[in-house]
Amino acid sequence: MAPVIVIAVDGPGGVGKSTVSRTLAKRLGLAYVNTGAMYRAYALAAIKKGVDIHDKEALEGFCKGASIVYDAAKGSVSVNGDDYTEEVGGLKAGESASIISTNAEVRRRLVAYQRSLGLRASCVMEGRDIGTVVFPDAAIKFFLDAPPDVRAKRRGAEFSTASNVSIDHALRQRDKRDAERRESPLKPAQDAVVVDTAELDLNGVVDKLLEILKDRGIC
Ligand code: C5P
Repeated sequence: MAPVIVIAVDGPGGVGKSTVSRTLAKRLGLAYVNTGAMYRAYALAAIKKGVDIHDKEALEGFCKGASIVYDAAKGSVSVNGDDYTEEVGGLKAGESASIISTNAEVRRRLVAYQRSLGLRASCVMEGRDIGTVVFPDAAIKFFLDAPPDVRAKRRGAEFSTASNVSIDHALRQRDKRDAERRESPLKPAQDAVVVDTAELDLNGVVDKLLEILKDRGIC
Protein backbone atom coordinates (compact mmCIF):
# COMPACT_ATOMS: atom_id res chain seq x y z
CA MET A 1 0.00 0.00 0.00
CA ALA A 2 1.33 3.46 -0.91
CA PRO A 3 2.06 5.69 2.10
CA VAL A 4 -0.54 8.35 2.77
CA ILE A 5 0.20 11.90 1.67
CA VAL A 6 -1.16 14.97 3.40
CA ILE A 7 -1.19 18.25 1.51
CA ALA A 8 -1.74 21.03 4.05
CA VAL A 9 -3.50 24.23 3.00
CA ASP A 10 -3.66 26.98 5.61
CA GLY A 11 -4.48 30.66 5.49
CA PRO A 12 -6.83 33.37 6.77
CA GLY A 13 -10.58 33.60 6.14
CA GLY A 14 -11.88 34.64 2.74
CA VAL A 15 -8.66 33.73 0.95
CA GLY A 16 -10.40 30.99 -1.06
CA LYS A 17 -8.92 28.00 0.79
CA SER A 18 -12.03 25.83 0.62
CA THR A 19 -12.68 26.21 -3.08
CA VAL A 20 -9.01 25.84 -3.94
CA SER A 21 -8.49 22.82 -1.64
CA ARG A 22 -11.64 21.06 -2.86
CA THR A 23 -10.66 21.59 -6.49
CA LEU A 24 -7.06 20.56 -5.87
CA ALA A 25 -8.19 17.36 -4.13
CA LYS A 26 -10.50 16.55 -7.02
CA ARG A 27 -7.79 17.13 -9.62
CA LEU A 28 -5.43 14.83 -7.68
CA GLY A 29 -8.04 12.21 -6.81
CA LEU A 30 -7.47 12.72 -3.07
CA ALA A 31 -9.92 13.16 -0.22
CA TYR A 32 -10.75 16.72 0.82
CA VAL A 33 -10.84 17.47 4.53
CA ASN A 34 -12.22 20.81 5.67
CA THR A 35 -11.23 21.28 9.31
CA GLY A 36 -13.00 24.65 9.55
CA ALA A 37 -16.28 22.78 9.04
CA MET A 38 -15.45 20.72 12.13
CA TYR A 39 -14.94 23.80 14.35
CA ARG A 40 -18.10 25.27 12.88
CA ALA A 41 -20.19 22.14 13.49
CA TYR A 42 -18.79 21.77 17.02
CA ALA A 43 -19.76 25.37 17.80
CA LEU A 44 -23.27 24.97 16.42
CA ALA A 45 -23.76 21.74 18.36
CA ALA A 46 -22.61 23.41 21.59
CA ILE A 47 -25.02 26.32 21.03
CA LYS A 48 -27.83 23.87 20.26
CA LYS A 49 -27.16 22.22 23.60
CA GLY A 50 -27.49 25.59 25.35
CA VAL A 51 -23.78 25.92 26.11
CA ASP A 52 -22.38 29.45 26.52
CA ILE A 53 -19.47 29.22 24.07
CA HIS A 54 -17.59 31.95 25.96
CA ASP A 55 -17.67 29.84 29.13
CA LYS A 56 -14.50 27.74 29.25
CA GLU A 57 -15.79 25.15 31.71
CA ALA A 58 -19.16 24.73 30.02
CA LEU A 59 -17.42 24.28 26.68
CA GLU A 60 -15.04 21.70 28.11
CA GLY A 61 -17.99 19.84 29.60
CA PHE A 62 -19.59 19.80 26.17
CA CYS A 63 -16.38 18.40 24.63
CA LYS A 64 -16.42 15.39 26.95
CA GLY A 65 -19.66 14.07 25.53
CA ALA A 66 -19.28 15.23 21.94
CA SER A 67 -18.50 12.95 19.05
CA ILE A 68 -17.82 14.29 15.58
CA VAL A 69 -18.00 12.47 12.26
CA TYR A 70 -16.60 14.04 9.09
CA ASP A 71 -17.30 12.08 5.93
CA ALA A 72 -14.83 13.20 3.24
CA ALA A 73 -16.59 11.26 0.48
CA LYS A 74 -19.93 12.95 1.17
CA GLY A 75 -18.47 16.23 2.44
CA SER A 76 -20.75 15.95 5.46
CA VAL A 77 -20.17 16.74 9.11
CA SER A 78 -22.21 15.75 12.12
CA VAL A 79 -21.87 16.10 15.88
CA ASN A 80 -23.64 13.74 18.27
CA GLY A 81 -25.54 12.31 15.32
CA ASP A 82 -26.95 15.68 14.16
CA ASP A 83 -26.02 16.72 10.64
CA TYR A 84 -24.62 20.27 10.32
CA THR A 85 -23.44 20.08 6.70
CA GLU A 86 -25.84 22.78 5.47
CA GLU A 87 -25.59 25.06 8.48
CA VAL A 88 -21.80 25.24 8.71
CA GLY A 89 -21.60 27.61 5.73
CA GLY A 90 -23.33 30.50 7.53
CA LEU A 91 -21.74 33.63 9.00
CA LYS A 92 -22.90 32.73 12.51
CA ALA A 93 -21.18 29.35 12.30
CA GLY A 94 -17.90 30.99 11.24
CA GLU A 95 -18.04 33.57 14.01
CA SER A 96 -18.90 30.95 16.68
CA ALA A 97 -16.18 28.61 15.37
CA SER A 98 -13.59 31.34 15.80
CA ILE A 99 -14.69 31.77 19.44
CA ILE A 100 -14.57 28.08 20.42
CA SER A 101 -11.34 27.49 18.50
CA THR A 102 -9.43 29.49 21.14
CA ASN A 103 -10.23 26.73 23.66
CA ALA A 104 -7.36 24.24 24.20
CA GLU A 105 -9.63 21.26 24.92
CA VAL A 106 -11.71 21.84 21.78
CA ARG A 107 -8.50 21.99 19.75
CA ARG A 108 -7.01 18.92 21.40
CA ARG A 109 -10.05 16.82 20.48
CA LEU A 110 -10.49 18.10 16.95
CA VAL A 111 -6.77 17.87 16.16
CA ALA A 112 -6.74 14.23 17.33
CA TYR A 113 -9.71 13.50 15.06
CA GLN A 114 -8.10 15.31 12.11
CA ARG A 115 -4.89 13.31 12.56
CA SER A 116 -6.86 10.07 12.54
CA LEU A 117 -8.45 11.07 9.20
CA GLY A 118 -5.11 12.09 7.66
CA LEU A 119 -3.46 8.84 8.65
CA ARG A 120 -6.24 6.81 7.04
CA ALA A 121 -6.18 8.21 3.48
CA SER A 122 -4.20 10.69 1.40
CA CYS A 123 -5.89 14.05 1.43
CA VAL A 124 -5.81 17.77 0.97
CA MET A 125 -6.50 19.11 4.46
CA GLU A 126 -7.33 22.78 4.91
CA GLY A 127 -7.45 24.91 8.03
CA ARG A 128 -5.36 27.31 10.11
CA ASP A 129 -2.89 25.00 11.85
CA ILE A 130 -2.54 21.98 9.56
CA GLY A 131 1.08 22.66 8.64
CA THR A 132 2.08 23.94 12.09
CA VAL A 133 0.28 21.56 14.46
CA VAL A 134 -1.92 18.85 12.92
CA PHE A 135 0.56 17.53 10.33
CA PRO A 136 3.93 19.23 10.83
CA ASP A 137 5.39 16.45 8.62
CA ALA A 138 2.91 17.02 5.77
CA ALA A 139 4.31 16.31 2.29
CA ILE A 140 3.86 19.99 1.53
CA LYS A 141 2.41 22.98 3.35
CA PHE A 142 0.75 25.73 1.40
CA PHE A 143 -0.19 29.00 3.04
CA LEU A 144 -2.60 31.02 0.91
CA ASP A 145 -2.68 34.73 1.55
CA ALA A 146 -4.26 37.94 0.21
CA PRO A 147 -4.72 41.46 1.66
CA PRO A 148 -7.79 41.96 3.91
CA ASP A 149 -9.69 44.09 1.38
CA VAL A 150 -9.35 41.41 -1.32
CA ARG A 151 -10.52 38.71 1.10
CA ALA A 152 -13.47 40.82 2.28
CA LYS A 153 -14.53 41.29 -1.34
CA ARG A 154 -14.39 37.52 -1.95
CA ARG A 155 -16.41 36.88 1.21
CA GLY A 156 -18.88 39.57 0.11
CA ALA A 157 -19.45 37.71 -3.13
CA GLU A 158 -20.27 34.58 -1.08
CA PHE A 159 -22.79 36.38 1.16
CA SER A 160 -24.82 38.78 -0.91
CA THR A 161 -27.22 39.41 2.00
CA ALA A 162 -24.65 40.94 4.38
CA SER A 163 -23.20 44.42 3.82
CA ASN A 164 -19.57 44.67 2.69
CA VAL A 165 -18.77 46.87 5.68
CA SER A 166 -20.01 44.27 8.18
CA ILE A 167 -18.21 41.46 6.34
CA ASP A 168 -14.96 43.42 6.30
CA HIS A 169 -15.31 44.18 10.01
CA ALA A 170 -16.15 40.57 10.95
CA LEU A 171 -13.27 39.24 8.87
CA ARG A 172 -10.72 41.57 10.44
CA GLN A 173 -11.99 40.69 13.91
CA ARG A 174 -11.74 36.98 13.12
CA ASP A 175 -8.23 37.40 11.66
CA LYS A 176 -7.14 39.16 14.83
CA ARG A 177 -8.62 36.47 17.08
CA ASP A 178 -7.12 33.64 15.00
CA ALA A 179 -3.68 35.24 14.81
CA GLU A 180 -3.44 36.38 18.43
CA ARG A 181 -4.85 33.35 20.27
CA ARG A 182 -2.53 31.39 22.54
CA GLU A 183 -3.48 27.98 21.15
CA SER A 184 -2.13 27.31 17.65
CA PRO A 185 -2.29 30.88 16.32
CA LEU A 186 -2.68 31.33 12.59
CA LYS A 187 0.77 31.65 11.01
CA PRO A 188 2.63 30.01 8.15
CA ALA A 189 4.81 27.04 9.09
CA GLN A 190 8.51 27.84 8.75
CA ASP A 191 8.75 25.60 5.70
CA ALA A 192 5.39 26.61 4.19
CA VAL A 193 5.10 27.72 0.57
CA VAL A 194 3.34 31.08 0.86
CA VAL A 195 1.15 31.81 -2.16
CA ASP A 196 -0.16 35.31 -2.71
CA THR A 197 -3.57 34.82 -4.32
CA ALA A 198 -4.50 38.51 -4.71
CA GLU A 199 -3.92 38.63 -8.46
CA LEU A 200 -5.10 35.10 -9.25
CA ASP A 201 -8.48 33.52 -9.83
CA LEU A 202 -9.40 30.07 -8.53
CA ASN A 203 -7.99 28.18 -11.49
CA GLY A 204 -4.84 30.27 -11.39
CA VAL A 205 -4.23 29.33 -7.74
CA VAL A 206 -4.96 25.63 -8.33
CA ASP A 207 -2.63 25.57 -11.37
CA LYS A 208 0.08 27.22 -9.35
CA LEU A 209 -0.20 24.66 -6.54
CA LEU A 210 -0.22 21.79 -9.05
CA GLU A 211 2.92 23.19 -10.66
CA ILE A 212 4.70 23.35 -7.29
CA LEU A 213 3.63 19.79 -6.45
CA LYS A 214 4.91 18.58 -9.81
CA ASP A 215 8.22 20.44 -9.43
CA ARG A 216 8.74 18.79 -6.06
CA GLY A 217 7.75 15.37 -7.38
CA ILE A 218 4.95 15.05 -4.80
CA CYS A 219 1.96 14.27 -7.01
O1 C5P B 1 -11.89 28.06 7.68
P1 C5P B 1 -13.18 28.47 8.34
O2 C5P B 1 -13.60 29.86 8.04
O3 C5P B 1 -14.27 27.49 8.09
O4 C5P B 1 -12.87 28.38 9.90
C1 C5P B 1 -13.75 28.91 10.86
C2 C5P B 1 -12.96 29.22 12.12
O5 C5P B 1 -12.53 28.00 12.71
C3 C5P B 1 -11.68 30.03 11.89
O6 C5P B 1 -11.90 31.42 11.95
C4 C5P B 1 -10.79 29.56 13.01
O7 C5P B 1 -11.00 30.30 14.17
C5 C5P B 1 -11.24 28.14 13.27
N1 C5P B 1 -10.33 27.15 12.73
C6 C5P B 1 -9.20 26.84 13.45
N2 C5P B 1 -8.37 25.85 13.03
C7 C5P B 1 -8.62 25.18 11.90
C8 C5P B 1 -9.76 25.50 11.12
C9 C5P B 1 -10.59 26.50 11.56
O8 C5P B 1 -8.94 27.44 14.48
N3 C5P B 1 -7.80 24.20 11.53
